[in-house]
Amino acid sequence: MIKVQKYTTATGQIMEMPTPEFRNMKASDKYKYKNLPRLKEMLRKRHLPIGGNKNELVDRLKLSDLNVSELKIKLKKEGLSVNGSKPDLVKRLLKVRGKRTKNCDQIEVPVTTMAVKPAGNPWKVPLLMKCGGCGQSVPNSDKLSHLDDCWFTNDGPSDVYLLHARSVNWAEKFELYLAVPLNGSFEDIDLLLQFTWMQCCFGHARSLDIYAANVFTNLKDTDDDPDPVMTLTSTYGLMVDDDIGPMDTALRQYLQNGVRMMYEYGGDYTTSIFVDYIGERRLKRPLQEEKAHAKTIRPVMRNEMLVMPCEHCYKKSTMFFMDDSHYDSDESDEDSFNEDGDDDCGMKFFCSKACSIFQGHRRRVLKPFLNSPRSGFCNYKGKTYL
Ligand SMILES: [Zn+2]
Ligand SMILES: [Zn+2]
Ligand SMILES: [Zn+2]
Repeated sequence: MIKVQKYTTATGQIMEMPTPEFRNMKASDKYKYKNLPRLKEMLRKRHLPIGGNKNELVDRLKLSDLNVSELKIKLKKEGLSVNGSKPDLVKRLLKVRGKRTKNCDQIEVPVTTMAVKPAGNPWKVPLLMKCGGCGQSVPNSDKLSHLDDCWFTNDGPSDVYLLHARSVNWAEKFELYLAVPLNGSFEDIDLLLQFTWMQCCFGHARSLDIYAANVFTNLKDTDDDPDPVMTLTSTYGLMVDDDIGPMDTALRQYLQNGVRMMYEYGGDYTTSIFVDYIGERRLKRPLQEEKAHAKTIRPVMRNEMLVMPCEHCYKKSTMFFMDDSHYDSDESDEDSFNEDGDDDCGMKFFCSKACSIFQGHRRRVLKPFLNSPRSGFCNYKGKTYL
């Protein structure tokens, strides 16, 4: 049976509403509807202080809802003693929280919502891939077989080149599969990369270095970086040379098995992308029709967002900052974002400004952390045009 309670509204009307059902409520809400004397009485029974405003009393009660071992884990995290009775443990935690609040301009991350530090290295977790055809999330290991089922067919001659783009930095976590028409040009690749990953503003120079087949796989440790067989650039005309060409050079003459390209999108800082040629494919019929009406084919597959735990509370990060000295110094230009993803990669991730302040980075400018290797550069805001 539902219990009904009478309420008087601001206009004097009397309304009947079901009584809040506490048993089905989230634990965090169960004190919300209790009045101050009732909250104080509950605190007194738990041998806890009864001073403060309602929020403070509720926080105190919520903390004391944790069991002793949960409290001890929190205390250990704070580097505090775990001895004493349960009220002692609660009081000790309340004390550090009070101090922290004072130190940080009243910005507070409630202890009760702190996530647990995830085990393992987030840089090494394979990301799911989102198929641009069916919208499904596909395990990284199944991505190519899924594409061949979902997008392509063997029923007839091939009509597109399939390419795989991945960020040179960010531990190669950002990945994109692209299909470009057989009669297309390198400009199609340029546009696809710009419109899905890069567009921070207009007018940055781009270039594409084309390397001979398998020159990277045959590379020995002692070798210097290989020279490209051809460089295509959006600024062609300013720099003319035998092995420099315009972006709208036809794909056909260069694409063959084992070919890799390096795409660079400029600005104050360049974002570099490897583009590997996978092979020729034939689009399924509905996609062929779609292609007939559009100049560019939307990305066939793209990685899902990389989840980086907040440095402070371990929640999913939405912002980060980079230590620019990693870019400016000569020694570190190669592996600024090293694959181990350890602390000296120069990036710190946070879920909020408050958490970065807790970690002592009050003056740092935080950049949005977005699903793109251009995150944090220029004016990039994550807009996707395709
Ligand atoms: Zn699919
Ligand atoms: Zn820009
Ligand atoms: Zn956080």
